[in-house]
Amino acid sequence: MAGRYRCSACGNLTRFDVVTSRRTLAYHHFTVGGELRIEDETVLDQRVEAVTCRWCGTGASVEVIDEAGEGSAAVPAATPELPGAT
Ligand SMILES: [Zn+2]
Repeated sequence: MAGRYRCSACGNLTRFDVVTSRRTLAYHHFTVGGELRIEDETVLDQRVEAVTCRWCGTGASVEVIDEAGEGSAAVPAATPELPGAT
């Protein structure tokens, strides 16, 4: 779910309209009276369909920024060797 957006037309980094289609598994817990409470929801599939810059009103110049290092694969080169670990 990571990944930020950037509008290269106006430099916007913070405000976007994002259209997402999502397939979820949800635990629908009804009371005897028929009142629904959704207690657990798991996202099975998620797809971003459109991203629009709030300032430009178009998604023509919106690009995805890859945020390196967060939650993804490790970065081995940046790990210093710890002394005393034998
Ligand atoms: Zn823009």
